[in-house]
Amino acid sequence: MLELKHIKKYYYVGDSVTKALDDVSVAFRSQEFVAILGPSGSGKTTMLNGIGGLDIYDSGDLAIEGKSTKDFSEADWDAYRNNSVGFIFQSYNIIGHLSILDNVEMGMTLSGVSNQEKKEKALKALDRVGLTDHIGKKPNQLSGGQLQRVAIARAIANEPEILLCDEPTGALDTETSDEIMQLIKELSAERLVIMVTHNPDLARQYADRIIEFADGKIQHDSDPYDEHADAEQFELKKTKMTFWTALKLSFNNIRTKKGRTTLTAFASSIGIIGIAIVLALSNGFQAQINKTQANTLAQFPVTISQTATSTTGGANSNDKVKTSKSNQVKAKVSDADKATHTNKLTKGYLNYVKKLDSKLSKNVTYTYSTGMNLLREVDGKAKTVSFSNTDSSNANSASAMSAAMANSTGVGVSVYPSANDGGTTFLKKHYKLLSGAYPKGANDVVLIVDRDNSTNINALKNLGYSVKDNQKFNYGKIVGTTIKAVNNNDYYQSLTTGNYVPNKATTSLYNKTDNTTIKIAGILRVKSKSSENVLASGIAYSDKLTQNIIQANKNSKIVKAQKKADSNVITGQNVDNTTKKTLVSYLGGSTTPASILIYPNTFKNKDKVLSYLDKYNKGKSKADKVIYTDMAGTVSSLTGGLMDAITYVLVAFAGISLVTSMIMIAIITYTSVLERTKEIGILKALGARKKDITRVFDAETFILGVGSGALGVVIAWLLTFPINIVLQNITDLSNVAHLNPVHGIVLIIISTVLTMLGGHIPARMAAKKDAATALRSE
Ligand code: ADP
Repeated sequence: MLELKHIKKYYYVGDSVTKALDDVSVAFRSQEFVAILGPSGSGKTTMLNGIGGLDIYDSGDLAIEGKSTKDFSEADWDAYRNNSVGFIFQSYNIIGHLSILDNVEMGMTLSGVSNQEKKEKALKALDRVGLTDHIGKKPNQLSGGQLQRVAIARAIANEPEILLCDEPTGALDTETSDEIMQLIKELSAERLVIMVTHNPDLARQYADRIIEFADGKIQHDSDPYDEHADAEQFELKKTKMTFWTALKLSFNNIRTKKGRTTLTAFASSIGIIGIAIVLALSNGFQAQINKTQANTLAQFPVTISQTATSTTGGANSNDKVKTSKSNQVKAKVSDADKATHTNKLTKGYLNYVKKLDSKLSKNVTYTYSTGMNLLREVDGKAKTVSFSNTDSSNANSASAMSAAMANSTGVGVSVYPSANDGGTTFLKKHYKLLSGAYPKGANDVVLIVDRDNSTNINALKNLGYSVKDNQKFNYGKIVGTTIKAVNNNDYYQSLTTGNYVPNKATTSLYNKTDNTTIKIAGILRVKSKSSENVLASGIAYSDKLTQNIIQANKNSKIVKAQKKADSNVITGQNVDNTTKKTLVSYLGGSTTPASILIYPNTFKNKDKVLSYLDKYNKGKSKADKVIYTDMAGTVSSLTGGLMDAITYVLVAFAGISLVTSMIMIAIITYTSVLERTKEIGILKALGARKKDITRVFDAETFILGVGSGALGVVIAWLLTFPINIVLQNITDLSNVAHLNPVHGIVLIIISTVLTMLGGHIPARMAAKKDAATALRSE
């Protein structure tokens, strides 16, 4: 039993009040066919919507089975519409983008009925209305009468107790009208049917009871409710729609407007494309910069030599020199001399450098101005040779000494850092193996050649090869060559005068058992232009070899003698303190390196290395300060900072386009909401909750967001190919643009989240729409 008690519903438009329902009281039996007759605008639809829970009354009460609906929550109304009421409208209200079966199933879909049960019930309902043969058709392939049958099937599929029909035959011809009326009449045998019509003939022909309406009031009731009628129980099941159903609904809707959706997705993907390309490019540039940095730093390590040029010591050359008016000569230390600083590489300082964080630098190399006593067997005879690549045609120990010292100036040294692996990693980075093998230990040395396979002729001559300019010979002549390093005690012979002379280079000296055997392990060629100056062409060896030789010679007789003497123990010349130090060092008596070369791995870390070195000088007197040379300094801040700035600007631009596309999505969703107002009404009539409606639109923006994100990433990825070709032509750099897959996935997620955010507000607005008003819209 359904009862309306003093129901009022007023509409206020401007200053005027429309009393659509003006104190209506009426009761219905659980099973009867009621026709509501009345002129247009008399409030019939308003009452029907009120009974169906589409439009909530202003005052009065609607009692269902004696239960008041005054305290009904929204969820209760949703459940009531979904379970107990079926709606049939004049305009059928079939959702065009869904199949016939989906339309009929929708009410049950909303209440979460299992797929199988849903299908069974829907097919039964379609059979009941005589549409079994047309199930495969699309809604737009059906006639009006057939569409109304679909609507009836939808209304009865869930077996509701109440069927509400609003002018069900209003849009149909007489013959079809009769068929539909017949069908409704049949359905009224099992339930309460309330039909609004303004056709008195139809009402009289089919209805059991006629209620006449005018001006929001009941004028006449042909068969008023009898108090003692039977009552039927019904319970409310809560409705719910899964996100999956929402997705399906949205997907079908999107499918019906492919063109527009594609355009929208493309437009909103532009922001993503922009960001993806900026990321791809900055990835590539960053990699390129890192490579350049590493190469630059390998060529220009931070150098700490025994003598350094202090950049702050010299006077500013821009200072104006005033013309002197005095008649005297002024003695002055030159600017260059002022700037020269002697670094005290004390044990303390060396320990300080050793404590440098090993993560900051790839290698730390120590060079020593130590000579080596080398012999090689040439044509069966032992011969004095050297690893120097300076011209030593008029060889004497003094020039050998200067050659050894030239090796310690920093750039172009032929000493490579041995690190933990004998220097292999360092060499592999810059050099390609032409023949032989990379060094396996300190006693393996290599020959460095330029990209045209040329090498310094002096290096070969100093090794005892007789070669002419431009002469070519096979790798095999060099690879595998052995050289003996002779200890000072074997190499020098003391004279009675207290002086020392080198022994003659003899086979017996060559064969001394405590000689160190050194091997030319391989020939290495410069890999790229940027590696050209890492090592000078000629023989290169690891710093470990020098260290070993110092260990062997530091307590030798000649070293001890030279440390005591005030003259050169070989030539007998008197020497000052500095020269004496150099001599001791040359003979292998000093463990103090001539220079320390630090190879930071990045410019950022180089700055950390420098500030670590600066910290040592804090609070030290000028003489105790250790000054380093940073030749890579000028390059650093430029490239790094510039790249960062460019990336920020580009990301900002791409961000703007992302925001633009988000706003666009919001607009599109909003239009879609407006367009689908009717559908929202239908869904609500079928018992959809606010949440469900929001879900449908959220699902739509979700699809759009994923779609445009994926589209954007794919387009950006495709664009990296032509971009790389263009960049290669302009800059010679290959594969600069490289889209990281992780970035791609993150961008799709960002696009989805932003799109859903942009669409969520219109979706909420859609959900809030009043169901009755939504249904009235066209
Ligand atoms: P009927 O179904 O008998 O033609 P309705 O129930 O549709 O009548 O309308 C009753 C009255 O309420 C009409 O005057 C109509 O203009 C008015 N009305 C209906 N809905 C609204 C609304 N949302 N806003 C303002 N007036 C409304």
